[in-house]
Amino acid sequence: MTSSEHVDLPSFIDGVKKRNPGQPEFVQAVTEVAEDIFEFMRGKEKYHEAQILRRIAEPDRVISFRVCWEDDKGNIRVQRGWRVQNNNAIGPYKGGIRFHPSVTESVLKFLAFEQTFKNALTGLPMGGGKGGSNFNPKGKSANEVMRFCQSFMTELYRHIGADVDVPAGDIGVGGREIGYMFGQYKRITNQFTGVLTGKGLEWGGSLIRTEATGYGAVYFLQNMLRTKGLEVEGKRAVISGSGNVATHAAEKIVQLGGTVLTLSDSEGFIHDPDGITQEKIDWVKNLKNVKRGRISEYVKEFKGASFTGGGARPWGVACDVALPCATQNELDGNDAKTLLANGCMAVSEGANMPTNLEGVHIFKAAKILYAPGKASNAGGVAVSGLEMSQNSARISWKEADLQEMLLDIMKGIHASCAEYGSDGNGYIDYVKGANIAGFKKVADAMLAYGVV
Ligand code: NDP
Repeated sequence: MTSSEHVDLPSFIDGVKKRNPGQPEFVQAVTEVAEDIFEFMRGKEKYHEAQILRRIAEPDRVISFRVCWEDDKGNIRVQRGWRVQNNNAIGPYKGGIRFHPSVTESVLKFLAFEQTFKNALTGLPMGGGKGGSNFNPKGKSANEVMRFCQSFMTELYRHIGADVDVPAGDIGVGGREIGYMFGQYKRITNQFTGVLTGKGLEWGGSLIRTEATGYGAVYFLQNMLRTKGLEVEGKRAVISGSGNVATHAAEKIVQLGGTVLTLSDSEGFIHDPDGITQEKIDWVKNLKNVKRGRISEYVKEFKGASFTGGGARPWGVACDVALPCATQNELDGNDAKTLLANGCMAVSEGANMPTNLEGVHIFKAAKILYAPGKASNAGGVAVSGLEMSQNSARISWKEADLQEMLLDIMKGIHASCAEYGSDGNGYIDYVKGANIAGFKKVADAMLAYGVV
């Protein structure tokens, strides 16, 4: 290969756009990473010559399949399912399954791409993948969800395996859905292996997996604040979402002495000026996981709180720190400006790509403490990796040991970001640091394999 085959950043992005028409989320994720990687690759011929970034931005494979199921009224329903296996250079494909009507191939390709870098950052041997369906679990009976999960796994099972591809939960997929899918996998293959993570404790799950993403995002925040000699204690936090990641992020903020002011769902957000205490968080967990209710119900239970509907997001509530923990592109340029104007000093993303490109550029220009999800929400997949290790060895580690490992891993990710993202004058560009540290590990493994 010759250097004439090098492309510059604009031509690279142009090529990504042309090859992936109608996939804005995927193009957005690749653009954000490419901006940093092109700078890093300057003068490093080996990465250019082997076309490494071009290869990481082309999934190893995208599997798409039909999922038929019967609703409680006997109607036949048809959904589309996917598994995107992005890259397995450093370990089996690993990444969650999302059930949400907004799921498209573009969304899953962006998530699998991001997952590749995130998993590399954890230091554990995991490649990147993601899957899901446009199935909407909201308003469905438990039997309908079970029938859907069984049908989904009846197709997916042939593409996954403990050493091949290990899915986990994500939006709309929690312990209940993992149970239905693991049960069907076991039934079809007659094997009890660590093929899924996020399993129940009685059947191969790991302690603290449920809490790990939210807790990890707060540990990352803690690491960032400490670079300025600050602590979480006394800080006012604005959090979006009210699912697994949001409620556990809220819990850890409260445990560390901070005050949580907001939570949200796709219908709007609640603002509780008195603070969302542990008791209130437990109430929300029950509302979401057992009653399957809506966050607006919070204000009937806790006086003094208000609900803002119409899909409103909480970024206008004055805070010291913000944790977007709902979904992609939920925080735009205007939201970023509002947060800054209100004095927000740190943003730690619990969700994947919650801040759009304009928002990211605004946070970076303001040089606040801003952590991209691929670094700050990696705690979940890290404990999933530890669940895989426990499954392989047929052992269960103690909670205190796992807590210690999670703390260590988040500290390690922070250190990797600082290594590649520090400007030498006290500012750390965590986006750049995470992109480069994740890329380097995957890229060096790919170089070792030659052209495959
Ligand atoms: P849950 O399904 O438990 O909760 C999702 C929350 O986000 C709900 O409150 C949901 O509200 C809200 N939400 C979902 N879609 C939208 C939307 N389009 N607009 C507004 N609100 C929305 O999911 P998780 O907590 O597991 O995941 C949240 C985020 O964290 C996702 O980006 C996910 O990829 C990421 N993540 C999750 C990990 C995990 O371990 N679970 C690991 C790493 C990242 P509603 O009920 O109204 O839809």
